[in-house]
Amino acid sequence: MAKKIQAVRGMRDILPGQTPLWQFVEDTARRVFQSYAYGEIRTPVLEMTELFKRSIGEVTDIVEKEMYSFEDRNGDSLTLRPEGTAGCVRACMENGLLHNQTQRLWYQGAMFRHERPQKGRYRQFEQIGLEAYGMAGPDIDLEVILVSARLWKELGISGLELQINTLGTPDERKAYRTRLVEYLRAHQDRLDEDSLRRLETNPLRVLDSKNPEMTDIITGAPSLMDDLGEESRTHFEVIVRGLEAAGVDYVVNPRLVRGLDYYSRTVFEWMTDLLGAQGTVCAGGRYDGLVEQLGGRPTPAVGFGMGVDRVVAVLEELGAAPTDADPHAYLVLAGDQVQAPGLVLAEELRNLLPGLRLQVNCGGGSFKSQFKKADRSGARVALILGEDELRQQQVGVKWLREQRDQVSLAQGQLAAFLKEEIGE
Ligand code: ATP
Ligand code: MG
Repeated sequence: MAKKIQAVRGMRDILPGQTPLWQFVEDTARRVFQSYAYGEIRTPVLEMTELFKRSIGEVTDIVEKEMYSFEDRNGDSLTLRPEGTAGCVRACMENGLLHNQTQRLWYQGAMFRHERPQKGRYRQFEQIGLEAYGMAGPDIDLEVILVSARLWKELGISGLELQINTLGTPDERKAYRTRLVEYLRAHQDRLDEDSLRRLETNPLRVLDSKNPEMTDIITGAPSLMDDLGEESRTHFEVIVRGLEAAGVDYVVNPRLVRGLDYYSRTVFEWMTDLLGAQGTVCAGGRYDGLVEQLGGRPTPAVGFGMGVDRVVAVLEELGAAPTDADPHAYLVLAGDQVQAPGLVLAEELRNLLPGLRLQVNCGGGSFKSQFKKADRSGARVALILGEDELRQQQVGVKWLREQRDQVSLAQGQLAAFLKEEIGE
C-alpha cells in the first residue's frame, strides 16, 4: 500500500462535528460587526514578503522566525499572511479607500505562522479582525473595544479579562525606552538570551517575553505612564472612563506592549485562564504610524484581531453546546420506483420550509439498513416513502427518539406537520 500523506504539522482539519461551533463564532462576529456598520473586506492569502517586513517590523517574532516565505516561479518573494492588518492597509491604499474618508472594516480568514504547535497555537489558524481608519480621537478606540466586549456577550463567554495600556506617541516612547534600557542594563545578568538580544534591537519587546523566569524583572520595570504627555494621558483617560460608563471591566497593565511594532497609544488584550499559556484570545490597539510606514499619507488607525481557534477552545472549555446541525428528518425510500419521486418530494418540502434540515437516503438499501442510517443521522423523525405511499400520495412518519405510533399523512399535509413538530 502506498504511504499515506498526512496534513502539514500544526495544521488541522476541522470536522463536521466541530464546525457548528466555528460557524456560531463566525456568524455572531458578522452580526455584531454589522450592528456597528463595519463592512467586510477580503484580501489575498499571499502578499509580497516586503509588506510584512515593513509593517510588522524586522525585529519581531513573526518576521524573524514565523513567516512562511518562498520564491514563486518568477523569483518574487511571497509570504502567506501571518496576520490581517498589513494586507488590509495595503488593500485600502491600493483601492483609494483612505483618501479623505473614514473606513470601518472587518475581515476573516486563515493566517500562517511557523510556530511550535501546541494547544491554542497552530501553524494555520483563523483570525477575525476589525480595523477603523481615519479617526484619531479616543472615541473610535472605545468603540472598537466595545465591539469586542459585545462579541463575548453575544457568544455567551464571561470571565475574560480586558487588559489595557497606552504606548504613547513615538516621542514619548523614546523617552521611556531610555529609562527602560537603563533599568534592563542594571539587571542584565538576569535576562534570558532572547531578552538580551531585544535589549539591543527593540527593548520594549523584552516586556512581551513569555519566559516565566522573566516575570520578576518585567514587573519591576519602569512604567511608560510616567512619560506620557497631556494629550496621550487624556486620550487614555477618555477610553477608560468610557469603558467604566459602559460597564466594561478592565485592568490597566503597564507592561502590556504587544508583539508588533506598529502600535501607538492604545493597546489591549482579552485574556483567558482556560487555555494555559495561550491566554490571549483577542488583541488590538491603535497603529497611527502604519499607513505612512507603508508609503501612504499619515492615517490614524485602530483595530483588533481575534484568534478564532482560541475562542472556539474557550467555548469548548465552557461546555458550550454546538448549535444543532443534525437533520430534522430522514427520508427512507423503499423500492427502486420511489428514488426519483422521493428526491422531488424532498425538494418540495425544502421549498416550503426553508429552515428544514432533511436528509434523503441515497444508495438504496434494505428497510432495516435505511432505518439504521436514519437513526445514526440524529434525525427526530423518519419519513417513509414506499411504492404504496407513492400511489396513494402519502408518507409514513415514524418517530425515532420517542415512543409514538407511526402515522400516515397525505403528502400535502407533510409541510404543515413538519413545521408543527419541528418548529421550523
Ligand atoms: P501570542 O502572544 O499568543 O503569540 P500574538 O501576540 O503573536 O499572540 P497577535 O499577532 O496579536 O498574536 O494575533 C492576534 C490573536 O491571534 C492572538 O491573540 C491569538 O488569539 C491569535 N493567534 C496568534 N497566533 C496564533 C497561533 N499560532 N495559533 C492560534 N491563534 C493564534
Ligand atoms: Mg505570537
